[in-house]
Amino acid sequence: MSNKDTILTVEHLYKAFDGTSVLEDINLEVQKGEVIVLVGPSGCGKSTFLRCLNALEETDEGRVLLDGEVINPAEGKSLSHVRERIGMVFQSYDLFPHKTILDNIMLAPLKVQKRDKEGVKAEAIELLERVGLFSHKDKYPRQLSGGQKQRVAIVRALIMHPEVLLLDEITAALDPEMVREVLDVVLSLAKEGRTMVMVTHEMAFARAVADRIIFIDGGKVVEEAAPDEFFDAPRTERAARFLKTFSF
Ligand code: ADP
Ligand code: MG
Repeated sequence: MSNKDTILTVEHLYKAFDGTSVLEDINLEVQKGEVIVLVGPSGCGKSTFLRCLNALEETDEGRVLLDGEVINPAEGKSLSHVRERIGMVFQSYDLFPHKTILDNIMLAPLKVQKRDKEGVKAEAIELLERVGLFSHKDKYPRQLSGGQKQRVAIVRALIMHPEVLLLDEITAALDPEMVREVLDVVLSLAKEGRTMVMVTHEMAFARAVADRIIFIDGGKVVEEAAPDEFFDAPRTERAARFLKTFSF
């Protein structure tokens, strides 16, 4: 069933909070280099699903496999390894306020991955240049705009060399004029063949970046389609209704 290019597999995933079902029988196979965009109404389980993918959330039933190996949240020792291999960027950037931008980026590769400091620094600088923030490297997070901080958060994820990147509404808290600069970075990552699973409400962007759209409603995958198909001719009435709430 899986082919050699599958990086992430989700099989019959179920998740409930306090007896209330949040995800029901989710199945997904992500190929290397694929960009998947999850869309759906607020509260439908998108964030919970992403959190299950990198074991931030325990699943009740079903399995998640990374490159054919089961990720098991019960096995604590493998968890940090899973999170190195599956990076995540959130709506809130959560940078350490008392560390410079460069130190924020270098922290995890040095402490968690025990990598060589000079090599990490060189890579941090290269990544900062790439997202247009080299000149801000010695500043503190409070001196940066929201869009700049979110680009730093992306760099902080990338420097861990994740095989899969999860992005959860990373532009949702940004002022409109800063959304573009962050989405442009994500587009460039997609172009270079990064595997990403993301949640966004930027529908024009979703259409441009996605290889596949997954529409979730009520904790279930209701539709799965190529972007043009999903946006031009959704198969279900629920998806059509959802899309009508956006103007793009
Ligand atoms: P989305 O990201 O699609 O808006 P979420 O995955 O955040 O949805 O939430 C799905 C449902 O699960 C919501 O009803 C939410 O209230 C509930 N939920 C999420 N996290 C928790 C939690 N830690 N404890 C209890 N309920 C939760
Ligand atoms: Mg969410």
